[in-house]
Amino acid sequence: MAVVSPLPKFKVVFVGDKSVGKTNIIYRFMYDKFDTTYQPTIGIDFWSRTILSVEDTQIRLQLWDTAGHERFRCLIPSYIRDSSTAVIVYDVANRQSFLNTTKWIEEVRKERGSDVIIVLVGNKSDLVDKREVAVEEGDAKALEFGFIFIETSAKARFNIKPLFRKIVTALLGME
Ligand code: GDP
Ligand code: MG
Repeated sequence: MAVVSPLPKFKVVFVGDKSVGKTNIIYRFMYDKFDTTYQPTIGIDFWSRTILSVEDTQIRLQLWDTAGHERFRCLIPSYIRDSSTAVIVYDVANRQSFLNTTKWIEEVRKERGSDVIIVLVGNKSDLVDKREVAVEEGDAKALEFGFIFIETSAKARFNIKPLFRKIVTALLGME
């Protein structure tokens, strides 16, 4: 019988203010679905998906979806500590959520130091008329800290696959 070597597994934690679209980004990636009603994540949700990375290697991504609610914030540090990638999400139509990424960056740094891949994501890029954060600002912040940056729209199915492709590329050190 052939020996099946275990798939490389990577933990990816999603953080950011509530309602920025973390759960919908994951839904879009996992099921190609979008949910217009807002259902706050209770505590922490978990998804796992095996994906084919570049050069036909398979890897398994474990996605941890956190809730922005105060009541559950105390749970978040342990998930950050356990993850090799942190996706920090803000809403391009909500300036405060962009400013608050600084707090999320500090939170991630506190748990992981620089031993972590950080991806800054500006979601809801479809809200053109309501935009409060320019793409250049997200770009500049990511550049300042040396993060990966991408704008997405879970609703319009924009840049979701490229987001995960960037994560995998970084995880496999193929940048
Ligand atoms: P979370 O609290 O960060 O997990 O945010 P959710 O994924 O639950 O989304 C919060 C709200 O924003 C919901 O009403 C979603 O339908 C909406 N939403 C999420 N992503 C997008 C997006 O890309 N564009 C728009 N216009 N709305 C979005
Ligand atoms: Mg959620």
